[in-house]
Order: sequence, then C-alpha cells, then structure tokens
Amino acid sequence: MNTELDWSNLSFGYLPTDYNVRCRYADGKWGEIEVSQSDTINIHMAATALHYGQEIFEGLKAFRGKDGKIRIFRLEENARRIRSSAEGIKMQPVPEELFREMVEKVVKLNARFVPPYGSGASLYIRPIELGMSAQIGVHPSSEYLFMVMVTPVGPYFKEGFRPTNICIMREFDRVAPKGTGRWKVGGNYAASLEAGERAHELGYSAVLYLDPKEKKYVDECGPANFFAVKNGTYITPASESILPSITNKSLMQLARDMGIPVEERHIPIEELAEIDEAGACGTAAVASPVAEIHDIDTGVKYIVAKDGEPGPVTTALYNKLRAIQLGEEPDVHGWNTIIEE
Ligand SMILES: *Cc1c(COP(=O)(O)O)cnc(C)c1O
Repeated sequence: MNTELDWSNLSFGYLPTDYNVRCRYADGKWGEIEVSQSDTINIHMAATALHYGQEIFEGLKAFRGKDGKIRIFRLEENARRIRSSAEGIKMQPVPEELFREMVEKVVKLNARFVPPYGSGASLYIRPIELGMSAQIGVHPSSEYLFMVMVTPVGPYFKEGFRPTNICIMREFDRVAPKGTGRWKVGGNYAASLEAGERAHELGYSAVLYLDPKEKKYVDECGPANFFAVKNGTYITPASESILPSITNKSLMQLARDMGIPVEERHIPIEELAEIDEAGACGTAAVASPVAEIHDIDTGVKYIVAKDGEPGPVTTALYNKLRAIQLGEEPDVHGWNTIIEE
C-alpha cells in the first residue's frame, strides 16, 4: 500500500504510478507485452494518430473491496467496445484476450496504487490505441501501439451526491448522425470542448446534446449517457450517435433486477417536462443526478429534481452499482474480475 497519498483528496488528474504496459502491432501481428516504467512514448511525427486522429481509448476502474481484494469492473465489455471502436475507424483491433491480459497485468503491477476500501477513490485504467505508421497519405496505418496506463482518482462526488444543472445548446454537435459517436474516439472529445467550456462558464456541469440529425431528441450528456425516470420507468435514448455506455448498460440491468421497466427509445425534448428524475452516467461518476435542464436557445427550464434532491431510483441504482463494485453485495452477473495479489 502506498502510504504517501491522501486518497480521499485525489483529483481527477494524472498521478504517476510505477508501470504501464505496451504492445505493438507491426508486420501483420501483435508483439510481446512490454512493461514500461517510462510515462512518455516515442512516436514518429508523421504518425496517423497525430495527423488523422487514428486514436481510440477506453476507461474502466479497479476498486479495493470490503474484503481487501482488487476488483476490475466489466473488463470484457471494455475489451469488446475498444474492438468495435477500432473497426469503426479502421484500426487494428486488439484481441480481447490481449486486452484482458494487459489490463490485469498493469493493475497487478500497480496494486499499491489501488486506493483503500472506504476512501471513495479508485484506480482509473486508461487503455489507448494509436496509429503509428509514418505516412502523409490518408489511409489507415499499418502499425499500432496499444498501451494501458493507470492513475489513482479521488471520489467523484467530493461535495456529496448532489444534483447539478445541465443545458441544451444547439450551436454545436459533438458528432454527426452516422459519424463516430458510437465509438470511443479522441476526436469526439475535441469536438465537444468548445460547447463544454461554454456550458461550464454559464454554470452548467455539462451539455445535453440533441440528436445531430433532427435536433428533436435527447442524445448524450457531455461524455456520459443520459437517462431519466418517468412514472417508475427507466428511459434512455436509443441513438446511432451515442457511445454505448457500460455503466448505462449495468444500470439498465440493475433496474430490471429491481423490477423497474426499462425503455431504450427516442426521448423527444418536450418529454423532459414529464420526467421525475434524470442523470448522466459513466465510469467516472456512475450516475450524476440532474437538477434542472435549461434550454438556452428557447429559455425553457425543465425542473427535474423538484426538491433539489437526487431521486429515489437514481439513488438506489447508484448505491447498488457501487456496492457491487466494492464487493459489498454479491456480483450475480459476474461483472467483476478479481486480481490475485
Ligand atoms: C466513455 C463514454 C461514456 C461512458 O461510458 P462508460 O462505459 O459508462 O464509462 C459515455 N459517453 C461517451 C461519449 C463516452 O466517451
């Protein structure tokens, strides 16, 4: 255990750890896994990742459980998703078995950075793949680097699990209707920075994007999926332009387990006037409750959390998911990978 870190006060920044793991694809095959102590990489200045955005990533977490064991949450789902992202932008897919081996290895090597149970902190795992071939022509790279780095991160809700306001802004789209939104591509984030910064300046925690084709339906909430609770039903957008969140998928399963009906469908903007709860979900926060949604173009304000408190369904789902991640409740769906130290 690393005794020098103040676990509960870690930010969502970058803290160096002991090791990262790397694997290169060249001459038509993946090489050996390399363990590195360097936190920099050597990249050709003409690499496709730098010029044409051939870059994809993942984000998952490891937790120290109540029993002292390290658990990685839904590793296989992330392995599947990065493969889909690779196929989406013509990169070499990382075999799922290689992904698993590298993630498990990097967590084991950095076990002293997995925050203690009860701190609210976790070890954030960031797999990343880059197109490495030196070329100026616009075509997919023939060489790739896949690496997995980790960094400990503090509890997301430092001021407690409190609802925040989000806004609808039509001036920017994060992605195109049949574009790269369904893949975890770095460029999608670049496209969201301007709108995100404007929203923050206006006091909102995130932008609630509308579907980029018709601007009629709710799409995604910044770098997180959107869900709402309406008359006891969990609703979340079905859309080609959103990233399939593994947290959302997990919350949907937990909702079904609790007897809460789940609907994945279009959510027209006007329906926001009828919802009882709303939240943004993703690995960083699990679920971040929404208080009000302000449509800054029309001036309409949707007051979701009438009493300013997180809703009962959002709270129950949040607590349930956290309890599974921390080994406080049985992992009936087999979502955790336990790391033997
Ligand atoms: C990563 C990401 C999410 C959240 O996905 P999780 O698997 O739940 O962490 C949602 N939206 C976007 C755009 C993302 O990149």
